[in-house]
Amino acid sequence: MKTSASVTRIFDALDRHHPGADTELAYSNAFELLVATMLSAQSTDARVNLVTPALFKRFPDARAMAAADGAELERLILSTGFFRQKSKSLIGMSSLLLERHGGEVPASMAALTALPGVGRKTANVVLGHALGVPGLPVDRHVLRVANRIGLVHSDDPVKVEVALCAMLPPARWTRASDTLILHGRRVCRPAPLCPRCNVRKDCDFYRTGATTKPMKKGGSNRLRQGSGESRRSALRAKAEDPPLRRPASQKKTPLTKKAKKRGRR
Ligand code: SF4
Repeated sequence: MKTSASVTRIFDALDRHHPGADTELAYSNAFELLVATMLSAQSTDARVNLVTPALFKRFPDARAMAAADGAELERLILSTGFFRQKSKSLIGMSSLLLERHGGEVPASMAALTALPGVGRKTANVVLGHALGVPGLPVDRHVLRVANRIGLVHSDDPVKVEVALCAMLPPARWTRASDTLILHGRRVCRPAPLCPRCNVRKDCDFYRTGATTKPMKKGGSNRLRQGSGESRRSALRAKAEDPPLRRPASQKKTPLTKKAKKRGRR
């Protein structure tokens, strides 16, 4: 359990580490951010940002998207993955926005999560970034980093959201999530870059013995496994980021004696 002084110290340090932390999705209003966040499921922000300019030009608001042809919408969002389900959710979400909210994005968690394809994480992103309502989105980066530091001890996103919100004033919630996400992407990756991290003195993962080899220029560090929790954390990290395997079609098969002879001729 962290003291309130150490919680403040940790989030102040993360703020300094990532001074421009914000969502990396491109948007100009709440509807666009809602759509972009829905598309980012099982995809990346960079990938979503490639498709949204054409998408928002063709379907700029809920009325246009509710009347979209499913096949055309699927083509526009194809590269974000799960495009059939996402297309259905976008049309359903836009239709309900029109029906219940006059096409406007509501500024409430209950109203947002009643829309098709919108969960707590998406709702919190939109509330916190586009509607001025404090929200703390919890994604896999927030889960990993907050657990490693020892701020929380849970894999349940809702429990983690509630616990983090209880530690911080509402005005810090959205930025706390943004800094944890950026920290998880850039520093506290599945194989963490602890020597580059400015919260390591307050980090349980670091202090309990999981250390990293000296940094190689431009290279990633492998975990040196200690005992107890550090070993378990290292194994968890490895499970999240398994080594790349050569596809079966590219695997080398040992040469037979006959084949070796043929090769020499
Ligand atoms: S010290 Fe290491 S494990 Fe802890 S938050 Fe920093 S990068 Fe992550």
